[in-house]
Order: sequence, then C-alpha cells, then structure tokens
Amino acid sequence: MKLQSLRGFRDILPDEAERWQRITDAARAVAAGFGYRQIHLPMLESTELFKRSVGEATDIVEKEMFSFLDRDKTHMSLRPEGTASCVRAGIEHGLLHNQQQRFWYAGPMFRHERPQAGRYRQFHQFGIEAFGMADPACDIEVIALSAALWRALGLGGLTLEINSLGSPECRAAYRDQLRDFLRGRADALDEDARKRIETNPLRVLDSKHPDTRAAIADAPSMEAAMDDDSRAHFGAVCEGLEALGIEWKLNSNLVRGLDYYTHTVFEWTTDRLGAQGTVCAGGRYDGLVAQLGGGDVPAVGFALGIERVALLLAQDQADAAGEMPQVYLCWHGDECMTGAQQIGATLRARGLRTVVNAGGGSFKAQFKRADRSGAGWAVVLGPEELAAGTLQIKSLRARDAQRTLPTDEAVAYLQQALRDGQPNA
Ligand code: ATP
Ligand code: MG
Repeated sequence: MKLQSLRGFRDILPDEAERWQRITDAARAVAAGFGYRQIHLPMLESTELFKRSVGEATDIVEKEMFSFLDRDKTHMSLRPEGTASCVRAGIEHGLLHNQQQRFWYAGPMFRHERPQAGRYRQFHQFGIEAFGMADPACDIEVIALSAALWRALGLGGLTLEINSLGSPECRAAYRDQLRDFLRGRADALDEDARKRIETNPLRVLDSKHPDTRAAIADAPSMEAAMDDDSRAHFGAVCEGLEALGIEWKLNSNLVRGLDYYTHTVFEWTTDRLGAQGTVCAGGRYDGLVAQLGGGDVPAVGFALGIERVALLLAQDQADAAGEMPQVYLCWHGDECMTGAQQIGATLRARGLRTVVNAGGGSFKAQFKRADRSGAGWAVVLGPEELAAGTLQIKSLRARDAQRTLPTDEAVAYLQQALRDGQPNA
C-alpha cells in the first residue's frame, strides 16, 4: 500500500508555511493591539460540548464531526471550531462571571467535508472572542479588529456582509413565523431544506439550492420581526462601522451555520475563491455561556480560515508577478543604443513587458540588474549581434543554455516561452 496523507488532510510546505506565518504574526499583533490575549485550547473535547453549543441540527454536528469512543468508552470529538471550547474553558476556570475578557486562539479544526480548494478536513482558524460586553461597542470592536487585520496583511477586495438575528426572544418568534411559512412551501423545497423546517428553519434562508432559493424569495423578513432594542443595537453597530470608514452590505439572509448567534452576525467574503467565498465569519452569541452552564454573559467573536486567507495572499503574489517585467534587454556600445530601443519596442508590441537597460554598465552589472528586475529572460545585444542581425537569449530562471538567434526568431522564441500564464517562466 502506498502511504499517503488522509483525504482532506494536507501537508503545509515551506512556501505556504511562510504565508501562514505572515498571517498569524499579523493576527497576533493586531489582536494584541486591541487588548486580546492568547488562549490555547485542547483539540479533543467531549462530543456533548459541540452538541450543546454548535447545535444538534447543524451541518457540523449532524454530518461533519470526527467523533469516536476512546478506550474508556468516552464520546469525544476533534474540535470542529473554537468558540465552544473557549466558552467551556472560560466557565471552567471562572474567567467569565462578572468579568470582561478578550481572547484569541489559533489552531487546527476538523470537519468531515468534501475536500476542495479552500475546504479541507483539517483546516486552521484564527479566532477572537470577547466576553462580558453587551453593548454595540463590542460588536463594532470585533468587526474593526477583522478590518484592521486585512489592512495589516495588505488584503483588499473583501466585502463585509452583516445582518441581525435580534434578541433570543425575537429570533425565536421569527423562527416560528418562518416555520409556518416554510410548511406552506414544503413541496417546493429541496430535501435538506424540508428536513430543516422543523429542526432549524433559519438555516433554510441560507440554502444554496436554486429551487429552495426561489421558494423562499418572499419569505417573511427577520427585520420586521425585530423588537425595538434589537433594532437600536443593530443601528448603532451599522453607524459605528460607518464612523470608522468600514463599508458593509446588509444581507438579510445571513444566518450563519451555528445555532448560537444572536443580534449581529457578519461575514467577510470574496469572489476570488469560488464556492469557498467566506474568509471570516462571526457575530454576537449572548446566549451561549448560559446555555453551557455559565452565567448570563454576553459575547462576540469571529473565526477566519487561515487556508483561505493564505490562498488570497498567494493570488496577490501571483498578481504582483503579473506586473513584473518579463524580459531585460542588455546592450553595449553606442552603436547599439538605437537598436536596443527598437527591439524593446518590438518586444512590447508583442505583449512582452520589457526593460531596456539604461545607465550603462558592464554586461555583468547589467545581468545583475536583470536578475533583480524579476524578469525571467535576458536578451543581449552587442556590436557582434548588431552586425549579424541576431540576439542572444538567456533564461534567468532555468539552467538553460544561452542561444543566439536571428532577431525575428528570437522574438518569436520569447513570445512562445512566455505564453499562457507563465509570466516569468
Ligand atoms: P462554509 O460556509 O464555507 O462551510 P462555515 O460557515 O462552515 O463556512 P465557520 O464555521 O463560520 O464556517 O468557520 C469560520 C471560517 O473558517 C470560514 O469562514 C472559513 O474561512 C473557515 N472554514 C470553515 N470550514 C472550513 C474548511 N472545511 N476548510 C477550510 N476552511 C474552513
Ligand atoms: Mg461549513
């Protein structure tokens, strides 16, 4: 049998590991800048913890957990997320009662999903959790921290979507109202959604199934079901974000996959990762601490997927390569100057980003510049080549012999070599 890593479990090789380090370094620094401190949590917890927090009628608990019985017949699960453990630890160590806490964590999470780019069975999250603060200031802080992290990483193009689920009371009232509506439409829903009518009707709202989407287009809105306090809370969050210059988009179908959210929920999304478009997700979960046996402790948090952020950073690096010169033209001798400029113009006209040496220098010095320019190819024009109507071409990346070709052929050769998404091959 050929030994391989398990499906959905990946090795993080050095290039990616370096990107990860950048992400976690930035996240640690930004979190510390907001007064958050690190907490380490176990990777195995009792299965009961996730049933009681994430919720039994969620994708995660229903079909994604790695759960097993250990040698002592204890039911345990590899953690699918960090919030439940963080709350458990907070309660267990008496850190939450009548206190305010700001924590961050980072590490592997496990979900038995169908692996694809940006979706794995072992993946990694960075998350923060703030406890003991019920006011909108805390929702704003948590979202602002995520925005500050994108800035620190130089990551643009993410969209912030927000919504409010209201207080637990209005969320419950809305759930009943929605359930009635969905019962009337049951025949038009896909099978998953139909099952959820009774167990978790809110989840039907973020179904991706086209039939279900069509059937719920005129579902009653959460907004209409919100009480005045919930409305005021959400209004203050929206205004606070605006005041900080953080742009957001209201998405009234945003409900999040986990049961424990109340009031503000949010997601940072991108259209650059296909179906894995959510990079970071979070919200307020005022009921969870009590639900797990702690007191009445409000809380807000988020978790981001390190793999997805790393994929975006890698794409940005590829984009940066897309701006770099592809060819560096070295030339020597006054009689070659005009010819070098003309060849530069020809290469550019053929779509190749070309730097023509300026500022003189020996060929050795020019080759050094060529290397630093990021170009993949050097072209050499000296008096000999000029007289013969040829160019020398040399790859700066591959250990490839230098070749001398007639000018036209040399241009065609480079064009061929640099074709099809290999900007610096
Ligand atoms: P999705 O809708 O993509 O399944 P989710 O709602 O299940 O995401 P959360 O539980 O909110 O995700 O987790 C927060 C973040 O963790 C996600 O936004 C994503 O970036 C990341 N994440 C979640 N599941 C995976 C996975 N299987 N592989 C890689 N990253 C993941
Ligand atoms: Mg998921």
